[in-house]
Amino acid sequence: MSEVLKNYDLEELKKLDNDHHMHPFTDYKGLEGEGGSRVIVRGEGCYLYDAEGHKILDGMSGLWCTNVGYGRKELAEAAYEQLLELPYYNTFFKTTTPPAAKLAAKVASLLPDNMNHVFFSGSGSEANDTNLRLARHFWQLEGKPNKKIIISRENAYHGSTIAGASLGGMSAMHKQAGLEIPGIEHVMQPYWFGEGGDMTPDEFGIYAARKVEEKILEVGADNVAAFIGEPVQGAGGVIIPPKTYWAEINRICEQYDILLICDEVICGFGRTGNWFGHQTLGIKPDIVTMAKGLSSGYLPISASGVGDRVYNTLYEKGGEFFHGYTYSGHPAAAAVALRNIEIIEREGLVEKVRNETGPYLAQKIKELDDHPIVGETRTLGLLAAIEITNDKAKRTRFEPAGKAGTICRDEFFKRNTVMRACGDVMVTAPPLTIEKSQIDDLINTARECLDATAKELGVI
Ligand SMILES: *Cc1c(COP(=O)(O)O)cnc(C)c1O
Repeated sequence: MSEVLKNYDLEELKKLDNDHHMHPFTDYKGLEGEGGSRVIVRGEGCYLYDAEGHKILDGMSGLWCTNVGYGRKELAEAAYEQLLELPYYNTFFKTTTPPAAKLAAKVASLLPDNMNHVFFSGSGSEANDTNLRLARHFWQLEGKPNKKIIISRENAYHGSTIAGASLGGMSAMHKQAGLEIPGIEHVMQPYWFGEGGDMTPDEFGIYAARKVEEKILEVGADNVAAFIGEPVQGAGGVIIPPKTYWAEINRICEQYDILLICDEVICGFGRTGNWFGHQTLGIKPDIVTMAKGLSSGYLPISASGVGDRVYNTLYEKGGEFFHGYTYSGHPAAAAVALRNIEIIEREGLVEKVRNETGPYLAQKIKELDDHPIVGETRTLGLLAAIEITNDKAKRTRFEPAGKAGTICRDEFFKRNTVMRACGDVMVTAPPLTIEKSQIDDLINTARECLDATAKELGVI
């Protein structure tokens, strides 16, 4: 990091950033008031380093994406070699490139047997735009042009483009641009801790799934193209549905002939202890959204897995599909994604999460259940959440909502550890390479931060 300090004056850099850089999901005046951005200069394994030399344990894998951790030389080399050989060529002109073709085949081999094709985009949001177009186009070709509505869930996250934000269920996002676009409906999320009332989790899982059925009956199955859902909602607060939920969703989608889109942008590539969340949770998707862990975030790339039913209709009846992006199948990004998958396989990271670190995180985080302000902890693989509550039995929040989460997140920040607050839920999704001793560090820090938060809230 001394390199950076040699090349830049840190205060100058922070001023440039403040004066010219509009950050995503940021309150600009607020950021300035807090003294501007923290400058991150290097990453190695599960750790980040900032310009002041702090070593930071990254419990969020960047933004849920650096599955193989930081500092992978061979990913840099894969990009370098491809950039020298062929930095760019498109896949529109009846052309392809070796990395794009190989990556499509590799990803298809990891997906269910009845899913054999892949469409590339540049980000998770773009992939979900693609999926919306695919689903509606499919039904048009099937002679059912009225099947246009996509059903999603409140508090879902599907990206930040117009279609992505509309598909998502974040009301704050909807308010800022007159969203959602027509033809998208939201139903209850399967969030037992927050919305399950007196029901058992299993009862509530059925109840929440039936909200999808009620919506289908309300708008008419002849008008519904697809249901979209994250296997586990990530940005919404690591919401792991009750066991009964997805089986009922499978039944409903089948019964009413509705496509099922699984947004695996976070759950994909090992996060839940299988290659995909739909394998862990028994979901039967027609279309799968992938991004983030596909390249471990080293370069931007995303993909839609397209099941045979949808693909065959486009193939037989579709003619030209008028859709694509300049960077669809970008050769350098595809080369990095291929090598990233190779690393996950070679190092057995999926099995490591399933058999070793996932169960270990589950066991360690349970130790926090007795904390006075913890209402619930939950994990699936290397996704975990800690619910902050002011009443364990009633599962209610401190007022105002979000304050406790913000305090707790800032406490993590002070201790050079990253956990994110989704409202009053603390979430973590560390790199799949994390070791047990680092999980110990993460959970020990969490206890300290919860203590400090409780103290600040006047509880202990
Ligand atoms: C991050 C995310 C997206 C959006 O991906 P971008 O690359 O930021 O556009 C979509 N779906 C889910 C589930 C995500 O977590």
